Amino acid sequence: MIEASQFRNQTVAVLGLARSGLAAAEALKRGGARVVAWDDAASRRDEATRAGFELVDLAADLAGAKALVLSPGIPHTFPQPHPAAARAKAAGVPIIGDIELLALAQKAAHFAGITGTNGKSTTTALTAHILAETGRKVAVGGNLGMPALLLEALGADGTYVLELSSYQLELTRSLVLDVAVLLNITPDHLDRHGGMDGYVAAKRRLFHGQSMRHTAIVGIDDDICRGIFTALKGAGKQRVVPISAQRSVPGGVYVVDGTLIDDLDGAARPVLAMADAPRLPGTHNGQNAAAAYAAARTLGCEPDAVAHAIKTFPGLAHRQEWIATIDGIRYVNDSKATNADATEKALVCYDDIYWIAGGKPKEDGIDALAPLFPRIRRAFLIGEAAARFARTLDSRVAYEMSGTLGTALAAARHAALNDRRRGAVVLLSPACASFDQFRDFEDRGDQFRHMVEQLPGRRA
Ligand code: ADP
Repeated sequence: MIEASQFRNQTVAVLGLARSGLAAAEALKRGGARVVAWDDAASRRDEATRAGFELVDLAADLAGAKALVLSPGIPHTFPQPHPAAARAKAAGVPIIGDIELLALAQKAAHFAGITGTNGKSTTTALTAHILAETGRKVAVGGNLGMPALLLEALGADGTYVLELSSYQLELTRSLVLDVAVLLNITPDHLDRHGGMDGYVAAKRRLFHGQSMRHTAIVGIDDDICRGIFTALKGAGKQRVVPISAQRSVPGGVYVVDGTLIDDLDGAARPVLAMADAPRLPGTHNGQNAAAAYAAARTLGCEPDAVAHAIKTFPGLAHRQEWIATIDGIRYVNDSKATNADATEKALVCYDDIYWIAGGKPKEDGIDALAPLFPRIRRAFLIGEAAARFARTLDSRVAYEMSGTLGTALAAARHAALNDRRRGAVVLLSPACASFDQFRDFEDRGDQFRHMVEQLPGRRA
């Protein structure tokens, strides 16, 4: 746990008392600050009281706080600032987040930060895996897994690998990243950032304060990031490394024809066949691998050691997570795919798919997946979206209204066994949110994994 001692003997307000907020309150307390805390939910306030924190309704009174520590989920600008954030702004009290507290508390440590619309968690976990495998002292967290202030104190020889959401970046001022990775930008969360410009501005904060000792690693496969790459390069403040999963880029790291190429020194050296990294399927993972490779190289790791570590990456749960191969059928949990865009990334990876889809529908539906329908042998539809998905699939893909995940899995297994296609995949990639039938996407994926683990048959 981090001790945040910059506010010793001062009052700090903490708004939002879920895991990261409570960790911030605790880190500040350990650092000798007086903490006043609030959450709009009574249950969280009760928890904070039990943990010994003083409650103050911060919307009415900031209690003389020198800073307001905000959970990233709470808006401070768009669509409307939380009243406590509005009060802090009016009073000139800085609004910060837990990453800022970590940066202030661990000035001597190294920092790698990863952001982007998609692939943040995978790239963060992969980068940390490579650093750990090559013997570095590393802690991984932020938006992924462990809240930043629950990480261990690393000191000068350690590296924090942080997944940073645009919300967190907006609440961070002192953090200067040794390695800043921007993967991609597509429209997302625009309501919270007041439109695309605000979203892009939040992502660009990743490069704040960098100088020639620091590196920006930027994906150039979308127009917005390509523009940012060109602008950073032009400004010449830091070292800038391009990455791509689509084309060769001089001075960068890229994947072409399934091979990861290191051109950091201009030698265009092939370092890895992506087929040898089975937990990183698909073009999108080529981008993640190129980014993590470039980050690890920038932090001093050797090419061969990095390539080897990428091969042994165990993958993340719920993102095309291979669970088992039973009687020749692969079972893959892609519960994190909560929209059609994410599901597309999985469908392109397999040829004979028994597809479990549905849940709480998103606006865009699955029409955009039509070019991939020929890969789907049969669909098993669950949740609220089933009827709508059925209309889209009608007369193009055979489907069943399965209702629940358990029924869908049993039917998909049965169909796959009957068809006897080599390489058949039962794929849970719902293209929907989970909240109609599950607590969250993790709960959905965990239940799927558990059910697959109970299936009879011969395992490979
Ligand atoms: P994030 O943390 O940004 O949500 P994840 O690593 O958890 O990203 O991946 C979530 C989903 O996003 C994956 O299941 C996949 O469908 C898609 N995805 C992952 N990496 C990329 C990428 N580089 N580009 C586009 N989509 C991606």
